[in-house]
Amino acid sequence: EELGHIRCGGIPMAIGVQTDMTTPALLKKEFLLPSIMGDKVACLGVSEVGAGSDVSSITTKAVRKGDEYVINGGKMWTTNGTQADWMCLLANTSDGPPHRNKSLICLPMNLPGVHIARKIDKLGMWSSDTAEVFFDDVHVPCKNVIGQEGMGFTYQMLQFQEERLWAVANILTTMDIIIQETIQYTRQRKIFKQPVLYHQAVHFRLAELQTEVELLRSLLHRATALYIKGNDVTKLASMAKLKGGRLARELSDSCLQYWGGMGFTNDVLVSRFYRDSRLMSIGAGADEVMLGIICKYMDTLPKK
Ligand SMILES: Cc1cc2nc3c(=O)[nH]c(=O)nc-3n(C[C@H](O)[C@H](O)[C@H](O)COP(=O)(O)OP(=O)(O)OC[C@H]3O[C@@H](n4cnc5c(N)ncnc54)[C@H](O)[C@@H]3O)c2cc1C
Repeated sequence: EELGHIRCGGIPMAIGVQTDMTTPALLKKEFLLPSIMGDKVACLGVSEVGAGSDVSSITTKAVRKGDEYVINGGKMWTTNGTQADWMCLLANTSDGPPHRNKSLICLPMNLPGVHIARKIDKLGMWSSDTAEVFFDDVHVPCKNVIGQEGMGFTYQMLQFQEERLWAVANILTTMDIIIQETIQYTRQRKIFKQPVLYHQAVHFRLAELQTEVELLRSLLHRATALYIKGNDVTKLASMAKLKGGRLARELSDSCLQYWGGMGFTNDVLVSRFYRDSRLMSIGAGADEVMLGIICKYMDTLPKK
C-alpha cells in the first residue's frame, strides 16, 4: 500500500524532473554528476506566467556581458523550484527568430537575484512543490550554456520526447494498482446481497479499462524501443502522452465511482489518483498541444 502511495503523484514527478526533464540535454559534469548521484536537486524552467503551451513566446532574457549572461524575467510552475540547487533554464539569448534565439542554461539557484516568489497551492500533486521564480539581474558564466547557443528551443523539443515517454511510464503502474485495489474493494463490499464487483457493469468496465492500459503499455514499449535505437519518436510519444492523460481521467473517474462514499475520502489511493492524474492532460504539453503535433506529423494542418 505504501508503495502504491509513493508511486502515485507528486514524488515520482519530482524525481522525473530530475531524471528525464532537466538532465537529458546535459553534458556538463559539474551539474550532471551530482544530479545523477542524488546530491543536487534540479528543476526545469521553461513555462512562464505568459507562456505555457506556446514555449516559443517566453520572455525571460539572458543578455551576454563579457563572459557572463545577465538574466532577467521569471518562471512559473517550476516543479522542485522551492528546493532546487540548479535550474535547467530556457531563456532568450538573442532577438532572432523565436525558434533560433533561445538557449538552455544551467543556473545555480543560490545566486543573488534569484527570488522564489511563492509555493503554488495546487489541486493535486501535493508531495511535489511548485514555485514561481523571478530573476533580477542574475549573473551566470557563459560556460553554463548547454550545447550551442541559440539551439535551446530545439534541445527542449527533443527533451520533451523523453519527458512524455516518462510521463506515460510513470502513470501505467499506478493505473494497474488502482484497478487492482478497486477489484479488491468491490469484491468484499456487498450491495443488494452481492459484491459490487459481481454487477456486470462493474467487472466489464474494469476489463475495458485494463485493456486500454495494456494497449497504452504496448505503445509505450514500441515508442521506447524506437527511441533507444535513435529514432525520432515525437509522433508516437505525443500519441502516448495524449492517450495517457485521457485514460487517467477516465480510469480515475470510473474506479472512484465504484468505491462509493469511500472514494470521496482522503483515506484511499483512488481519490488521490483522481486529483494527481488530472495534471497529465495539462503538464508537459496539454492534450491539444499533443493533437497539434500529431496533426503536424500527419500533414493535416492548414497551410499558412
Ligand atoms: C503541477 C505543475 C507542474 C509543472 N511543472 C513544470 C516544470 O517543472 N517546468 C515547466 O517549465 N513547466 C511546468 N509546468 C507547466 C506546464 O507545462 C504548463 O502548465 C502547460 O504547458 C500548459 O501551459 P499553461 O498552463 O500556460 O496553459 P496555456 O498555455 O494557457 O493553455 C491553456 C489551455 O489551452 C488549451 N490549448 C493549448 N493549446 C491549444 C491549441 N493549439 N488549440 C486549442 N486549445 C489549446 C489547453 O487545453 C490548455 O490547457 C507545470 C504545470 C503544473 C500545473
